[in-house]
Amino acid sequence: MKGSGPSRPVFSFCRRLASSCSGFLVAWFPHLPGTRTLPKAIGMGLSLAALALGCAANRPSLPRHPGAPPALAAPAPRPTPHPGSNPVLRIGLRKASGGVAVTVVPSARAMLVDAATGHRLAVLPSGQPARLVLDVHAGQIQIERPGPVIAAPSVRIQVRGGRLAIPTTSGRYPSPLLVYPAAGGLQVVNEVRLETYLEGVLPGELPPSFAPEAQKALAVAARTYALRNLDKHTDAGYDLCDGPHCQVYLGHTTASPRGLRAVRATRGLCVWFRGQLACTFYSADCGGQTTFAREVPLPDMPAPPPSYLRPVRDAPRPAGPDYCRRSSHHWWSARVPVAELEARLNEDPGTAVGKLLSARFGDRDVTGRVQRVFLEGEVLAPTGATQRLTRMLSGWEFRRRVGPRQMRSTLAKIERVSPEEFRITGTGNGHGLGLCQIGADGMARPPYYANFRQILRHYYPGVQVGKEG
Ligand SMILES: [Zn+2]
Ligand SMILES: [Zn+2]
Repeated sequence: MKGSGPSRPVFSFCRRLASSCSGFLVAWFPHLPGTRTLPKAIGMGLSLAALALGCAANRPSLPRHPGAPPALAAPAPRPTPHPGSNPVLRIGLRKASGGVAVTVVPSARAMLVDAATGHRLAVLPSGQPARLVLDVHAGQIQIERPGPVIAAPSVRIQVRGGRLAIPTTSGRYPSPLLVYPAAGGLQVVNEVRLETYLEGVLPGELPPSFAPEAQKALAVAARTYALRNLDKHTDAGYDLCDGPHCQVYLGHTTASPRGLRAVRATRGLCVWFRGQLACTFYSADCGGQTTFAREVPLPDMPAPPPSYLRPVRDAPRPAGPDYCRRSSHHWWSARVPVAELEARLNEDPGTAVGKLLSARFGDRDVTGRVQRVFLEGEVLAPTGATQRLTRMLSGWEFRRRVGPRQMRSTLAKIERVSPEEFRITGTGNGHGLGLCQIGADGMARPPYYANFRQILRHYYPGVQVGKEG
């Protein structure tokens, strides 16, 4: 979930630094290809307008994914499967979804079937692309490949002993892919078994150079997180998305042999607390001290917050060196122009201060993370006179406004270094809750040589690691 250290662009490890945490929504921009018959922008606009009208009229203008809940009924939560059953998970592929067309290329002979009835629609030779296009008016998906066009309300593409590539995103996925119409265009879902899913998660969440025991600790934490959070996207007809909002999933990849071995070596193992799957949040770099669950307002935080998500000194002894000191952002400093901060605060009426006069960090929690930020500004009253305005934000909200790349954690201080500039300095990267990814790597290396069970019990005190709760 965070840093600039690893250079591979896919690590959510890096992106989570930017987005601040696993449960934090990040903006994303749907890929929107054009249609065959209209200029790109017009076709796209009309298609999406038709979708919007269908929704507005509250009529079933589009067929629903057979697994998706009825429009007006509360979605049924999925019972938590046993980790040993290696259940099938439905992973929503964000970058491949949202457009009116998607192209899929199989690496072996593939079958396209009607997802609702199971009837065979077409056979696709190895390497032959099929373009699936949403026909909004007919409420169907048209399959374009050599031969007559075939249509179905939802399509499952399956291949035996091969992968399914989506050229527009450079992703390759294990079989099958399910494609169905959704509110924003086509939704593409990879139906994948838990252990195979995790093999695509480890390379997205941790650099391949991290120590094997740290990889295993993350594999167990990621397995637990997935099983605990299968209801995150129930409304959209799938379980988890493939981004840092849930866990980054890269599909089929050989980018991290250590990650692959870690998943296989820990097959079926989860983190448990009193018989229940534990809440295994993790962040990139805790700054030497993890924090309280109550200090991190993640949307998927259980209430009341679990007791094992509490401050842990991330070092072998109280005065010892931090396990995460190797992090390239363990200590950081950012210069923030007053005008820039002012503009970001003024974007939201809830944080607007007018002309920013001062910013001061107030109360801190026991780990040193700032809890309250006091802002003073000046606005123009309707009479034309200037008026002083004071605001108090949480440290979390202030960080969100500054930007998590500039203010990497709330374990920080702020000073005005000139009339035009603030300087924010701090330690750590991310929310600092639960497992510290760089700290886990530090624990696994000399001179500590911790194993993955010791690493997990260090960051989640009181939990058990096993196949059963
Ligand atoms: Zn998600
Ligand atoms: Zn740490």
